[in-house]
Amino acid sequence: MIAFTSDIDWAPEEVILDTIGLFEEYDVKCTFFSTHHSRVLAKADKKKFEIAVHPNFNPLLNLSGNKRAEDILDEILDIHPDAKGIRSHSMMQSTALLQMFADKHLVYDSNHFLPYQSGLKPFRLWNGMVRIPYNWEDDVHWAYGYEFEDCGINLNDTGLNVFDFHPIHIYLNTENKYRYTEAKKFYNDPKKLKDFQNNEIKGARNMLVSLLKYVKENKIQSYRQIDIAQDFLNRYLI
Ligand SMILES: [Zn+2]
Repeated sequence: MIAFTSDIDWAPEEVILDTIGLFEEYDVKCTFFSTHHSRVLAKADKKKFEIAVHPNFNPLLNLSGNKRAEDILDEILDIHPDAKGIRSHSMMQSTALLQMFADKHLVYDSNHFLPYQSGLKPFRLWNGMVRIPYNWEDDVHWAYGYEFEDCGINLNDTGLNVFDFHPIHIYLNTENKYRYTEAKKFYNDPKKLKDFQNNEIKGARNMLVSLLKYVKENKIQSYRQIDIAQDFLNRYLI
């Protein structure tokens, strides 16, 4: 089973649209974990592109904001009232936060990262939510010092494989943190960001395109996270 997710991390519209365009081109589904209102995302076909939420609880750690955790969560849920899933920015979680997610009627949580592990399976949390782990993330791939020639995941594995790409890294075709650090100064200027695109070696965009091609050519079914959660619940409740 293969699934693609994308944490949009406040990317500008053009950058998000670029990512949606790639998934559309190969007719592959994706779940977007959203940080803000995006017109292009709102317009995208929900049967293919699920919108889940991606709140940023980090200010709670360094007291840099004046919002409570619940305010932060409510703010993004007001933008996406139909969201059923959540992955916190930086994967921030705790028992209190997870209880809050369940209280807000979120169905699944995607905060459990198991890099390159095979045989992933969803499981049920004490609060009734389904937890869907994921095993690949673009910026973690270079953090390990890996090249983007090989994703390091066995796609024939019978378990779940869940990829996480950031639109900014797809747009930049990022291959290491140095490129991103330089480009980040122009995060909201897609035109200027083009000057920082990687055309030299394989990067995150090349990786995504090769995965999308593989899925399309082998007629592999792709899933939104909510489909995985629902399928798990249907079987679990029998
Ligand atoms: Zn994030």
